[in-house]
Amino acid sequence: MKVATPGSTIGILGGGQLGRMLTMAASQLGYRCIGYAPAGDNVSADLCADFFENGWGDTAALAAFATQCDVVTWEFENVPLTAVNAMPADRLAPGAKSLQVAQDRLAEKRFVEELGATCAPYMRVESDEDFRRALDRIGTPGILKTAREGYDGKGQWRIASAHEAEGVRFPGRPCVYEGMVDFDAEFSVILVRGHDGEVRIWDSTANTHEGGMLVRSTLPAGPSVEAQVEIARDIARQTADALQYVGVLTLEFFATKQGPVFNEMAPRVHNSGHWTIEGAATSQFENHIRAICGLPLGATETRFASIDMRNIVGEDAQSAHQILAEDGEPHLHLYGKREAREGRKMGHVTRVSHKT
Ligand code: AMP
Repeated sequence: MKVATPGSTIGILGGGQLGRMLTMAASQLGYRCIGYAPAGDNVSADLCADFFENGWGDTAALAAFATQCDVVTWEFENVPLTAVNAMPADRLAPGAKSLQVAQDRLAEKRFVEELGATCAPYMRVESDEDFRRALDRIGTPGILKTAREGYDGKGQWRIASAHEAEGVRFPGRPCVYEGMVDFDAEFSVILVRGHDGEVRIWDSTANTHEGGMLVRSTLPAGPSVEAQVEIARDIARQTADALQYVGVLTLEFFATKQGPVFNEMAPRVHNSGHWTIEGAATSQFENHIRAICGLPLGATETRFASIDMRNIVGEDAQSAHQILAEDGEPHLHLYGKREAREGRKMGHVTRVSHKT
């Protein structure tokens, strides 16, 4: 692998807050970032040297973007594979295969099961008959999820009882029906893998979700997570190796009485790793840039006794500046989104403590 020298251009597919934070980390290391995403509230564009606001099907624009890039990555896992495949494979990191697997809930479950992971009971649902069969076999409570393009709880229907299931119809797109997992906590394993196969892993936070969306990540994660994190790390490491992955990879798990149950993977930096900006020796953003540019990876150790990262969701970012007046060390990050909508991630705040 060729090391990307200072001044090289990193192309980022997607224009959201993850791209914005990747761009900040890349700038610090002397790189220039350009972005590509369809027209919208592309908050990484404010920081990029150039930004292509073009559709994912615009082959001429994709080609023009690719010619400018020394390295290409993505910040959004629903970038269509056709757009990713329009990038030069030898400059793309991670590889397209990881996106192909992670874009399909069935494919990612099968992939990790082959490596020995446990998933919630699940069945593919492609018709109303499939759905009734899945309800018969798996029972309730459960969740019907679209196989593709769901995020932050979107494209999901929670079904509490057989009675409730009667009112739910197959939504017309391939889905997976999963049994509801009775968990003690949720956690993710976030790792970075370099071109040479070296893997480094951050501590796992306990993650709290509301309505299917992450709202809070805390360290220490508590005994139920700590007792099973090693098994989960092993699965994550094997997944990264099997994909010959380069960059930051996230696997989400439920901590249950029977051990870790895999939920889903994200082939990218992750919301549950935002705490690493202040809380770890090297952030997930910097290590992703280091990995894809062929630089040595940074240490991932946690630097504080406790950490509390909370998302700022749907609120007007103007009032968030009040957080800066708090005691302690509140580290505020606002994403520059122009419109606050319900359920929209506007920023996050990380509070750290030197003592437990
Ligand atoms: P997902 O989009 O699959 O990550 O789901 C979002 C959130 O919904 C998860 O982080 C959990 O809080 C919850 N959830 C999803 N699937 C299940 C399940 N099978 N059992 C229990 N909770 C779930």
